[in-house]
Amino acid sequence: MEIALLGTGDAIGTPKIGCTCPVCADAARFGRERLRTSFLIKTGERHVLVDTSPDLRAQLLARGSPRIDAVLWTHGHYDHFVGYNEFYRVQKLPPAYAAPPVLTYIREQLHFLRIAGHPQPVYTPFDLFGLSCTFFEVNHPPIYACGIVIEADGAKIVISGDTNAMIPERSRDLMRDADLLFLDALVPGGVTIGKHMNYEDARALAAALGASSFRCVHMSHLMGWDLPDTARDGDVFRF
Ligand SMILES: [Zn+2]
Ligand SMILES: [Zn+2]
Ligand SMILES: [Zn+2]
Repeated sequence: MEIALLGTGDAIGTPKIGCTCPVCADAARFGRERLRTSFLIKTGERHVLVDTSPDLRAQLLARGSPRIDAVLWTHGHYDHFVGYNEFYRVQKLPPAYAAPPVLTYIREQLHFLRIAGHPQPVYTPFDLFGLSCTFFEVNHPPIYACGIVIEADGAKIVISGDTNAMIPERSRDLMRDADLLFLDALVPGGVTIGKHMNYEDARALAAALGASSFRCVHMSHLMGWDLPDTARDGDVFRF
């Protein structure tokens, strides 16, 4: 199994349009960028996306244009699903897997597409090309949102999705002892955003969950480029 980070940014992306802050200025100077957060998982010859970001076209071109066999959606925010439109006239629309309320909402939003949807009850593992996948509930008010556990080849990857630190205990139990853990870390420590974790929240949660390896994702332009444990677009992990 291989997991590639297609993007590590928040809904806005870095650089933010029109922003002259030091992080965005560095982005322009050194050609750095954080596209919107999503993940490409390769298992055998199959490719699965976790979320379909507004940057999907550029992200797939950058990865050599893999044909996508399925998509997993964490929740119905713009930055996590609208890229699904990019499959139009490019490839057969991939089947979509999500928790029932997430799938219903996104299908309504993309009503002009015929999506083969597979509602998956949370906390119930399902098989996808040999990957064992389990959605779990997180806390991203006011909308319903999930994270996901993916297990294959003896490895456990956990993706929190968008969430604040008040994750239900049942979900925390599932998130423990990951080989690789990705956590929402929108803003630096000391900054509070009700629906997301900040950098300190994410680092504390990673320590509490006992992950072997951990990276922050879904970072805004307020997050510096070289903080410890922060992921970069294009990072690839193999198991
Ligand atoms: Zn988001
Ligand atoms: Zn900025
Ligand atoms: Zn969100």
